[in-house]
Amino acid sequence: MATLSPLLKQATPLVATRGEGVWLYDESGQPHLDFTAGIGVTSTGHCHPRVVAAAQEQVGQLIHGQYTTIMHQPLLTLSERLSEVLPAGLDSVFFSNSGSEAAEAALRLARQATGRPNIVVFQGGFHGRTVAAASMTTSGTKFRAGFSPLMSGVMVSPFPNPSHYREYGWDQEQATDFALRELDLLLQTQSSPADTAAFMVEPVLGEGGYVPGNERFFAGLRERADRHGILLIIDEVQTGFGRTGRFWGHDHFSPAGGPALADIMMFAKGIASGFPISGIAASSELMAKAWPGSQGGTYGANAVACAAAVATLDVIAEEKLVENSAARGEQLRAGLRHVASTVNEAVGTARIAEVRGLGLMVGNEFRDADGAPDPATAMAAQQEAARRGLLLLICGSWGEVVRFIPALVVSESEVDQAVALWSEAV
Ligand code: PLP
Repeated sequence: MATLSPLLKQATPLVATRGEGVWLYDESGQPHLDFTAGIGVTSTGHCHPRVVAAAQEQVGQLIHGQYTTIMHQPLLTLSERLSEVLPAGLDSVFFSNSGSEAAEAALRLARQATGRPNIVVFQGGFHGRTVAAASMTTSGTKFRAGFSPLMSGVMVSPFPNPSHYREYGWDQEQATDFALRELDLLLQTQSSPADTAAFMVEPVLGEGGYVPGNERFFAGLRERADRHGILLIIDEVQTGFGRTGRFWGHDHFSPAGGPALADIMMFAKGIASGFPISGIAASSELMAKAWPGSQGGTYGANAVACAAAVATLDVIAEEKLVENSAARGEQLRAGLRHVASTVNEAVGTARIAEVRGLGLMVGNEFRDADGAPDPATAMAAQQEAARRGLLLLICGSWGEVVRFIPALVVSESEVDQAVALWSEAV
């Protein structure tokens, strides 16, 4: 056997042989409570019977048909089904395989449609690991170091992230004032509107530490986008398909029934319960401005992935997974806040400085006794939880946040089990 690259170093020691719902089983049959969901991918849980059946049936009919050569039914059905859940006005979809490719597609479309070079991204954002996507990523140097020069034309503006200004004691209002003011300054001094194609932003910073945006910030982005003819790209790769307790993460920040907040929306992860498929959505007029041949690839919109995505959308609707995400998320945050206050009381300082998030996207931010970000304790807690059978991931600008991101099918008692294991671990 070839040795595994050190790049495949895992966050947990688990070798999984089987998955079911929010559970993974190792070689000895031992269960592990999976609150990572393949980094927010297995929205309907591991191997949901409906998704398995749809994929198995499709494998027997047509596995692959390249979409610039032939069309296939699962792609057409998926496009039809997506039109039921996409924000009004975003009536055209284009598919690729990963979140990074969706970021590339959105970037290319924005530059081609506007003829402008620059993209403004927001501090702590993560958009992927291809060179273009990494160039637009600011959630940690590890995603960018060592392979410069990166793509030019990327400007960085603050995200309203109070945890970045914890020592100033800023609340979300103050962080939002600062973020919008800095964005105006950036447009006045570094990247004039005539040179700015798009803003690219996550509704909730994902890899950047599970920090939700807010309505005033997104309204401010929309207003500036309209005023200057800049496109607003919303990256729903991690937050889409019910993850935050609403169908789209940005639904939390835009009035229901109003016009679409985004000009271009990126999606991936939760769409197909683990099959690789991603995409962008935009209005037909905007999508028509992409130059033929400039987008896409051999594997985009694989037929089996499309069939799995259609089944995933069925399960999300029929099992009311968006509602479950909201309810279980509230339960999870309440449980984790109780654990945090017990820990903080015991040690006499705010070691778990904040439990935050939306729906089933919940982060615990660790700080040391001096109030500095504490990635070492976060990592120790995550590893201790893994030893006790609870799988978790790390995120945050310094790796100081332990995140809980279970499948949306998680039950009340499974959330209780996770909170109990976490309490033992910390
Ligand atoms: N955008 C966001 C918000 C993400 O969270 C991720 C991955 O975590 C990506 C883009 C990149 O997706 P992928 O890893 O599939 O390329």
